[in-house]
Amino acid sequence: MDKKFLHNILDRVIGGAPLSRDDWRWLLSEGAAPDVADLLRSEASRIATENFGKGVFVRGLIEISSYCRNNCNYCGLRCSNREALRYRLTKEEILDCCREGASLGFNTFVLQGGEDVKQDDAWIVDVVRSIKELFPDKAVTLSVGERSVEGYRAMRKAGADRYLLRHETRSDEHYARLHPSTMSAEKRRASLQTLKSLGFQTGSGMMIGSPYQTMENIVDDLMYLDELRPQMIGIGPFIPAKNTPFAQFPAGSVDLTILVVSLLRLRFQKALIPATTALASIDEQGRERAILAGANVVMPNLSPLDVRSKYSIYDGKKSLGSESAQALDELARRLATIGYHIDFGRGDYNEK
Ligand code: SAH
Ligand code: SF4
Repeated sequence: MDKKFLHNILDRVIGGAPLSRDDWRWLLSEGAAPDVADLLRSEASRIATENFGKGVFVRGLIEISSYCRNNCNYCGLRCSNREALRYRLTKEEILDCCREGASLGFNTFVLQGGEDVKQDDAWIVDVVRSIKELFPDKAVTLSVGERSVEGYRAMRKAGADRYLLRHETRSDEHYARLHPSTMSAEKRRASLQTLKSLGFQTGSGMMIGSPYQTMENIVDDLMYLDELRPQMIGIGPFIPAKNTPFAQFPAGSVDLTILVVSLLRLRFQKALIPATTALASIDEQGRERAILAGANVVMPNLSPLDVRSKYSIYDGKKSLGSESAQALDELARRLATIGYHIDFGRGDYNEK
């Protein structure tokens, strides 16, 4: 390994310069070596600490529906999965979750769900408005899939602050292998542009190790993120879900996911990067490892207890213990073991 080149890349990226495809390719392949991965992690963590201290923002995650009209090949909620357990929360149930979340100290609520035709744009708008009436100072993040431009606009007008919509993969060919032909990578990217232009703090991201993914695909993803400049970037390992076309594929690599977290932090120094539930679900230390690689957000589950097991986008998804909103003390304890603490602030994106 060319140590000089590693330090050259680090100097450039830390100084804020964009990296070339060759640079990213080099980092992804050389980063497989533990000593290189360690150095990247420690630099990423230093940058995260400079920007955010040792605080980790928390978001209360409310999974509002397990119905979905889409048929993504990787996801347990896909509409062809007849075995999936379906539920949808009412507005009153969602408001109850927010009330509980507020009493636990959360300042951001994330409403996530499948693309449920019964929870249409107007319905989401009404829920956002009601949450904002009750809690005008709290941030509302939506993660309810692809909607119409008019829908996004109305949600923003109703007070939604942020929107999470992963691009999933930048490669059109790879996207087509992960999704039915009714979905398009181009449409997904157009949605992301719209969300940004409407003033949403916008989140994108991808799975690591999804079926047929190559290193070149991840290079494409990193180049695309550089172009999009999202305020939030969510990445997690692919995890197989039963009764889906990808049920027999292996899970993505935790080490590679952690490496990519550190690369994202190096390049997107102010971005909000979660230590995802997917990572915590397949590695007992996944959350802590991501934080030590530069992640600065966790999203404990605030859904009603009786629906949690039904929101099964992949097998073995954690929603209890440190992944549960009701166990913030346990989360705090675990963060303390690595020298971090919960930051209860809203955690808006801040360029400065
Ligand atoms: N319907 C919305 C939100 C729910 S899915 C949407 O699709 O945006 C949220 C994220 O879960 C997806 O973006 C995808 O990247 C991730 N996901 C879905 N299935 C997964 C799996 N099997 N393993 C890991 N992540 C998965
Ligand atoms: Fe639906 Fe989202 Fe799952 Fe795709 S990833 S099937 S849009 S819930």
